[in-house]
Amino acid sequence: MDATFVISNATIAPICASDPSDVIPSATIVLSEDKIAWLGADKDCPESYRQNGQHHDAKGACVTPGLIDCHSHLVYGGERAHEFAMRLEGADYGDILKQGGGILSTVNATRTASEDALYLAARARVQSLMDEGVTTLEIKSGYGLDEDTELKILRVVRQLSQTCPIEFHPTLLAAHALPPEFTDKTAYIDWICQTLMPKVAEQELAAAVDIFCEPIAFDLAHAEKLFKKAQDLNLAIKCHAEQLSASGAAALAARYGALSIDHGEYLTVDAIEQLADAGTVVVLLPGAYYFLREQQTPPVSLLREHQVPMAVATDSNPGTSPGTSLLWMMNMACVFFGLTPFEALAGVTCHAARALGWQERLGSLKQGLQADLLVWPTENPEMIAYAMGQVKPELIFKKGKLLKGSL
Ligand SMILES: [Zn+2]
Repeated sequence: MDATFVISNATIAPICASDPSDVIPSATIVLSEDKIAWLGADKDCPESYRQNGQHHDAKGACVTPGLIDCHSHLVYGGERAHEFAMRLEGADYGDILKQGGGILSTVNATRTASEDALYLAARARVQSLMDEGVTTLEIKSGYGLDEDTELKILRVVRQLSQTCPIEFHPTLLAAHALPPEFTDKTAYIDWICQTLMPKVAEQELAAAVDIFCEPIAFDLAHAEKLFKKAQDLNLAIKCHAEQLSASGAAALAARYGALSIDHGEYLTVDAIEQLADAGTVVVLLPGAYYFLREQQTPPVSLLREHQVPMAVATDSNPGTSPGTSLLWMMNMACVFFGLTPFEALAGVTCHAARALGWQERLGSLKQGLQADLLVWPTENPEMIAYAMGQVKPELIFKKGKLLKGSL
């Protein structure tokens, strides 16, 4: 196998789930086409790889896997800055709804936006994530809540995947809120299961389904119906669970083999044991915690004790986490939730890959895995979570292609 790129004299942080803090100093990584052909100490690099490919002396710089944002809602119309201002002046959610704010204002703006306008707004958000080294991105629908707009959002995700040099994981989140056309939540869930999900599956517009399971949205019976249908259609399962209350949704999702439950502030010990048994990832979303000034932090020590993989994501959305900086989220996961800088790094690489079901293909630096990797302007991997977005990758490789920087 010929080398295409050989990066030597690097500090390689492979970020494997078994020991994310393992670092190989004075190391070489060899790329061959879209795969990692070899990595290890400089002195052990096979002679054949020294003969071909483009060579780069990293001068000690740190190399990590490409970053993965495994939870975002970044295809939407409009913005909610006025609502933010109202909240700072003391308005509660009820006041905001009365003024026409809240999620349904985003639904209206998304329904009326053209597909091109949605694409352009989302493209700019994707660009800022790519600049930080995001090479894989999950995007949920959920601001349409009707057939035309849910499909429109998922088509925008498809268009992004055809025009951006990174990978996308589309997720159907029609069960995000009750649309104005329905008064009965069960009738709406039945419509999603019987009408929308088969169309989405047939057009291969989503790889997973998700539901917002909270008393203000949908309950366990709704979630179970959706999960059963997802299994019938061979779609993976994700669930917004235990953000505002201990609803039992996480344990239910674990029983259905969910890839992830997301938020998890109110997780109980019982639920954590079930997540551990099922291998379900908990996706921590510190941006929403911060923006909503929540008080309840997720039980990180218990998750650590039970070896539940913890991912970290932006939750990028107009209502509760309008940012597009995964690096900031890593910092907040450390400061607010008590993750170590290496846990935060694992949260946006190997564990985020598992939250998408793609851990056998990407998320770590290992021979045979996809060559998604970053070269940072620092020798210390802990700088990435520490620097609050100030340190960005100098070289970005996706599937072995150099997207940013030059050798
Ligand atoms: Zn979310």
